[in-house]
Amino acid sequence: MKSDIRVCAAWESEHDRPVYTLGDTCPKCGTEAVNSAPAPFSPEDSYGEYRRSLKQRRRE
Ligand SMILES: [Zn+2]
Repeated sequence: MKSDIRVCAAWESEHDRPVYTLGDTCPKCGTEAVNSAPAPFSPEDSYGEYRRSLKQRRRE
């Protein structure tokens, strides 16, 4: 059985948690739903960005 679960592409800004769907769009906000297997963006990059801004704030 082929699983084709998608996740709302804008869930981070539109929802508190990932919204999964089997359709092409998010059932809650209508945003395009993307394949959940490959992340649309890297969480590691976000954390790096977050750490950098924290460091800069402490230095000031
Ligand atoms: Zn959504």
